[in-house]
Amino acid sequence: MRGVVMYKATDAVIRLTATCICGSDLWPYRGVEPADHTNMGHEYAGVVEEVGSDVKNVKVGDFVVGSFVISDNTCETCRSGYQSGCAHREFVAGTIGTQSEKARTPHADGTLVATPGQPTPDLIPSLLAASDVLGTGWYGAVAAEAGPGKTVAVVGDGAVGLMAVLAAKQLGAERIIAMSRHPERQELARFYGATDIVEERGDAGVAKIKELTDGLGAHSVVEAVGTQESTMQAIGATRPGGHLGFVGVNYDVTIQGIDLFFAGIHVEGGPAPVRRFLPHLIQLIWDREIDPGRVFDLTLPLEQAAEGYQAMDERRATRVLLTF
Ligand SMILES: [Zn+2]
Repeated sequence: MRGVVMYKATDAVIRLTATCICGSDLWPYRGVEPADHTNMGHEYAGVVEEVGSDVKNVKVGDFVVGSFVISDNTCETCRSGYQSGCAHREFVAGTIGTQSEKARTPHADGTLVATPGQPTPDLIPSLLAASDVLGTGWYGAVAAEAGPGKTVAVVGDGAVGLMAVLAAKQLGAERIIAMSRHPERQELARFYGATDIVEERGDAGVAKIKELTDGLGAHSVVEAVGTQESTMQAIGATRPGGHLGFVGVNYDVTIQGIDLFFAGIHVEGGPAPVRRFLPHLIQLIWDREIDPGRVFDLTLPLEQAAEGYQAMDERRATRVLLTF
């Protein structure tokens, strides 16, 4: 294990209880992003082991969850609820890394949220999910303005898409359409609150959403994949005046301005400001109102992380939980 030291009085060092392998970790794994000397991993839950002298909000021994983006939670951008754009933001992936036994957390007061007490083991996967996948799916649903009376369509049945279904249900959506063609994911989507399943993709998927919504399109659409096809499918499935939340990390998507122009929709997305939602999500998990931990379909000890990457690369697993 590499050494973990505090650099600043606002840092904390946490001992990880759980971490995971995210779909976005496959970008460096496959060579799309640099991997050499990169500290992998950005989701984390664990126990505070050391705090700097300026840290006030968490103390040694606290069980904490943090976002995949470091934020001070005090600057103007943070106070407006967009902590992933913090003036002092740092992405945990790459520089800090949490696929390790310990992690240094800068801006600990702004980034970490302590749970109400020490969690029982069954809550750990769900608390870990809050760090990114749940927070990201939740943001997608909020950005899409999912809520009472709304029909919400979710493009993508990976972990984030499933969490967007969960969020839409919690936010009171009337109808939730999960776009999926995998039987196990469809089942999980229904568990999390999907009322309808659409297996068609691309233009056929858009046509099916319109057919289910009197030809109008969904009020709210969450894009949780990040490919060209899924992005165009999401734009096409949103009714004029509706809201699209896009949270799938995309690299090679091109949107023609004229397509966006005539779509006439609201669009919001990007790296989710998970910190905005963390206190609420932790409480929902603590009260066992939600069970996001079911999105992990493979659990391995940290030493077998390489096998976890391979399983995800070969699509034998969608989300791998790493334990210690
Ligand atoms: Zn900030």
